[in-house]
Amino acid sequence: MAAYRKRVDQGVCPRCGDLPITGHLKCIKCAQRDKETIRRTAHNLRHEVFMHYGGYICANSNCQITDPDVLTIDHIEGRKSLKHNSYITGERLYRWIRAHGFPNGFQVLCMNCNYKKHLQDSYPSISAWNHSIQTIPMPSNMSTVREGN
Ligand SMILES: [Zn+2]
Ligand SMILES: [Zn+2]
Repeated sequence: MAAYRKRVDQGVCPRCGDLPITGHLKCIKCAQRDKETIRRTAHNLRHEVFMHYGGYICANSNCQITDPDVLTIDHIEGRKSLKHNSYITGERLYRWIRAHGFPNGFQVLCMNCNYKKHLQDSYPSISAWNHSIQTIPMPSNMSTVREGN
């Protein structure tokens, strides 16, 4: 720690003693390596959480999409049930889940199914309307109104 402090005082990278990036503490090599470590750690955590809740597959049996990029961890009973505010998402949520020993109440959903679920929960009437949209007849007076203008 003393060596670290000394290098900071000398204006060189505290890790390796090379010249730092202008305006930064560390050199480009150490900065990039740290960034890569952070990225890998975040990726591993996400992987661990997904593996616990069934792997990279949407839990909706009609969907079952497997693309990890579009999959997300869903609060089965809604985030209110766990008193999670809207900030507990992504990495924060993964960390919370691991810190609480991977509790029940989570599932893997794709973004579409997740969105659809919230739509159905929040606006059941809109969701019903979505299903029946194709059967709603065109207003019969539409063309006559236009002709009248
Ligand atoms: Zn360095
Ligand atoms: Zn899905």
